Amino acid sequence: MPALNSPRLYFISNGWLENDVALNVALHNQGTADFPNRAAEWHRVPSISILIQHPTLGWILIDTGSHDEAMNGRWPEKPRKGSPLVRTTDDLLGARLAQVGLKPADIDWLILTHLHLDHAGGLYHFANTKAGSRVVVHEVELRQALYEVFVHNEEFKNAYLRSDFVGLSGINFEPIYGDTELADDITLLFLPGHSAGLLGVMVHLANSGTFIFMSDAAYVAANYGPPVRQPGIVYDTVAFQASCEKVRWLERRYNAKVIFGHDPQQFATLRQSPEFYD
Ligand SMILES: [Zn+2]
Repeated sequence: MPALNSPRLYFISNGWLENDVALNVALHNQGTADFPNRAAEWHRVPSISILIQHPTLGWILIDTGSHDEAMNGRWPEKPRKGSPLVRTTDDLLGARLAQVGLKPADIDWLILTHLHLDHAGGLYHFANTKAGSRVVVHEVELRQALYEVFVHNEEFKNAYLRSDFVGLSGINFEPIYGDTELADDITLLFLPGHSAGLLGVMVHLANSGTFIFMSDAAYVAANYGPPVRQPGIVYDTVAFQASCEKVRWLERRYNAKVIFGHDPQQFATLRQSPEFYD
């Protein structure tokens, strides 16, 4: 294959989560005097990883989806019933990587947008690999995730599953401390709010322009607005708003396509791996 001179961007499906819409958009169907008992609404949202083939950095994977055994005993009852995961064997991370001719050891950089169980659950695949030796995560996210699962000694707390990221031999974290340029055409963006230290990714492509992947800084288009609408689960509401507005300035500046973390309508419009954007 001839050498790449511009990045390629792949959107990978890690399967689907089912949950109450109110988890993604707070008060989406609020009761009123006329209709005091409005029903909850259940929907299905995609779980997404991003893969970038970069001319100088190599293969960059952003997020790992959920553990292969998530619904087979790995997840405790709360997430298993509150946001069950629906997927086929094709959706497993190993299979998705194989579809583009890769295995975990071929990944050069692994970046976790945050450590929630549907993003960090596949971290164990990278034990004793190059990417696993320097897993990029925001320092604040790592601190908060450890705080959550250790302070009350809970295996599962606020969407963090301790065994996803604690006690994995052959995994080391390389914390970053704010917006970080990995190369001229790829920048990690600090977008706290949904979680304490969430990272998004902005990548400039030669033919397809600029993409900004917000991860769960906005689950769905309704969160991003404008106006910004809070999700049902949020670590810091003021920061959530500020992160959305930060992305909106970048969207204007670069005429960027903004990609949300779990938006079923938007995901259906995207090219999916092994197809890519360049
Ligand atoms: Zn999350």
